Amino acid sequence: MTSFTVINPTTATAVKEIELNDLIQTDQIINKAQKAFETWRHVSPGDRAKLLRKFATVVDTHIEELAQLEVLNSGHTIGNARWEAGNVRDVLNYYSAAPERLFGRQIPVPNGIDITFKEPLGVIGIIVPWNFPMPIAGWGFGPALAAGNTVVLKPAELTPMTAIRLGELAKEAGIPEGVFNVIPGKGSIVGERFVTNPLVRKIVFTGSTSVGKQIMRGCADQVKRVTLELGGKSANIIFADSDIELAAAGAPGAVFDNAGQDCCARSRILIQRSAYDKFMEKFEVAVKKFRVEDPALDTAEMGPLVSAGQLERVKEFVPDGTPIAFQGSKPAGPGFWFAPTVLAPKDTTDRAYREEIFGPVVSVIAFEDEADAIRIANDSEYGLSGSIWSRDIGKAIRVSRAVEAGNLSVNSNSSVRYWTPFGGYKQSGLGRELGPDALDAFTETKNVFFDTQK
Ligand code: NAP
Ligand code: MG
Repeated sequence: MTSFTVINPTTATAVKEIELNDLIQTDQIINKAQKAFETWRHVSPGDRAKLLRKFATVVDTHIEELAQLEVLNSGHTIGNARWEAGNVRDVLNYYSAAPERLFGRQIPVPNGIDITFKEPLGVIGIIVPWNFPMPIAGWGFGPALAAGNTVVLKPAELTPMTAIRLGELAKEAGIPEGVFNVIPGKGSIVGERFVTNPLVRKIVFTGSTSVGKQIMRGCADQVKRVTLELGGKSANIIFADSDIELAAAGAPGAVFDNAGQDCCARSRILIQRSAYDKFMEKFEVAVKKFRVEDPALDTAEMGPLVSAGQLERVKEFVPDGTPIAFQGSKPAGPGFWFAPTVLAPKDTTDRAYREEIFGPVVSVIAFEDEADAIRIANDSEYGLSGSIWSRDIGKAIRVSRAVEAGNLSVNSNSSVRYWTPFGGYKQSGLGRELGPDALDAFTETKNVFFDTQK
């Protein structure tokens, strides 16, 4: 068995050896999950609901432990990490209401009765990236388990620690053996096996657009169901009639939170030209105040990047000599630190402006009017998230309808609420997670006609 050394990104020191599963072990666990499906799907709705609520309660009593693990493994700020663990609890509680409400329909038809059922799919394979190890796992396994499926979950190689702990907490909560399985391993081994093993009936993938495309191609062989949450290059569109001070104060958090390693990061700022100078002046103050420090501190607003490799990737977008508008600070010493960086490219052909960087780098571009803002915002292969700042309600509504993205907020930078659907347009993804309809992504609709004339 091979292993992987987890590194603390804040100190660049080794934390723990994690054993990686091979193909044979992966198949064994998938077989176990398939067996467990036969009993889990028949656990009564009320009992399945109770088990999910118990799981939520056990997570709740381990929030601090899970959060500390994420600081250690991923360099997330402690404040964020507590929110992330709490999000797993909340998603479990939200979907614990689902088993008892998984309604079908009775549809009027001649000569009989017609009923639809929402049947579970079977084993669900969840492939998780390293940027939000806990929430992204929970958005998959919460609704998947609620709908009566069993789960095999592969955490990212870099960040397996909280997922492994969540697997243990599920057992502690009484989730039966084989129902929720965490399988640390390589994407090219464990992840690919989820795609090729026919017992896995659906893939939930979050990660890069290139791997997402590869998975979608692989799923085609078996017409395997697939949900994809991929990259983004979201626009923060700020009109001159907005509260510029408020928009500028919020703009650093909107892109530098989680060190920019966020698929919803507002990494393009589109500012109306007449407010450009005022905005840049306030934005510079806010960027320089943004606290980049030891993520274990309660005051930290940003920690290091996840890995030495990610630091190199981000540096490639800002090579020496790049004209920088202004920069925030970063601590000296070890760890994978990159200071918050603001670029003001001359036009939209700049590589750092167009590509997803997944680091604390933002590009600011001026626009003339509403039509120009919409055109520039939509000039991207991505369409995940974004913000619109304006005091003109009609304009805010028009622009929010015109921007091609799955999750927008007006006079706010918030992207994720577990009550509401989340997902991307264009190459940002396929399907939606969270919200009231997520169960549809984890069930098949079965239609049964009962002839009453015979
Ligand atoms: P990635 O390669 O797409 O990894 C995401 C997950 O997929 C990981 O668990 C990975 O496992 C697994 N995986 C990799 N290759 C696979 C394959 N052939 N079949 C099945 N599963 C596979 O992302 P990354 O390399 O960590 O990050 C690269 C870039 O992707 C980032 O810089 C960023 O631009 C983007 N990204 C986006 C998101 C998002 O939320 N939209 C998240 C992460 C990354 P291993 O960890 O073992 O490789
Ligand atoms: Mg990769």
